Amino acid sequence: MKAVVLCGRGKVEYREVEKPQIGERDLLIEVKACGICGSDLHFFYGGMEPIGEVPLVMGHEFAGIIVEKGKEVEDYWQIGDRVVSDNTGGACGRCASCARGNFVACEQRQTMGITMDGGFTKYVKIPGSLLEMYKNCLWKIPENLSFEEATLMDPAANGYNAVVQQGNLKSGEIVVVFGVGALGLMSIAQASIAGASKIIAVGMKADRKRREKIARKYGADEFFASDEEENIVEKVKEAAREDGVALVVDAAGVPALTSAAIQIVRSEGSIVRIGMSNKTYEDSLDGFSLKNIRFSGHMGYNQESWRNTLALAKAEKLNLKPIITCILPLEEYQQGFDMTKNQEASKVVLVP
Ligand SMILES: [Zn+2]
Ligand SMILES: [Zn+2]
Repeated sequence: MKAVVLCGRGKVEYREVEKPQIGERDLLIEVKACGICGSDLHFFYGGMEPIGEVPLVMGHEFAGIIVEKGKEVEDYWQIGDRVVSDNTGGACGRCASCARGNFVACEQRQTMGITMDGGFTKYVKIPGSLLEMYKNCLWKIPENLSFEEATLMDPAANGYNAVVQQGNLKSGEIVVVFGVGALGLMSIAQASIAGASKIIAVGMKADRKRREKIARKYGADEFFASDEEENIVEKVKEAAREDGVALVVDAAGVPALTSAAIQIVRSEGSIVRIGMSNKTYEDSLDGFSLKNIRFSGHMGYNQESWRNTLALAKAEKLNLKPIITCILPLEEYQQGFDMTKNQEASKVVLVP
């Protein structure tokens, strides 16, 4: 089977790999769709060393059909089931996070498509050792969702975690979202569903081409480009007026925006940082103490984020279609990555 394979820092090949063999406890998924994630870009273009042992098949936002099932796999899973993976490929089962059932936060977590083989190919094996311990590493896809839409569950559950679980948004409050990539857009969508009275999106000039429109579709009331404004802090504060900003979701991650977030958020507000940057933060952090601000780091989601986000999509409160810019055959992965990097696309989904 053909696969998009990470072979080293910035080295990616489209080549033949062996179809995985399953044992009596495993499942085999035939991949029907796999999304390109912002985090894939770091590995694809060489911004980051590979985390897992290479070569490995990339792609961690995949959905497909169960096509083979080991004899010992429980009856809940049947051949023909449409499923989406939360991309957990392994967890220790013993650490503090695993003990709480939060396998995604396990320090020894294996991530399909990042530390082990993932979904930019035709077949993926779900190991029985994981499936027996962590039953929600796979979810059945509601009938009203296509495979392409189901691949959006990863960023959508991420947004749910950021806004509702970590951000504690109350309906009627004002939310600012930095960054309008997939995580930013899904945070906007979740804030809108959760009842924000106003959503202010902050992107860049390049986002005006396409992403601004999608942000507005998902509920953004205002859009500012940080590289167009002389003073983005004042601009956002002006838009929030006297109510103030209760929550800033930072899906961009650059230090300048962390500093802006501290200035923007109201007293006793929250900042949830999703985005990443290896640049050093140099401003004062006193604003945290002076304004009683809660600051949370954010990585991924947990089972509750997935369960509730799937329920929203099933009930058609969350529409996962507008965020998909295009669906490309797997072999056109290069174009998909370029479009994502150039901010032309909010989400590209590859189909093997
Ligand atoms: Zn992702
Ligand atoms: Zn663990």
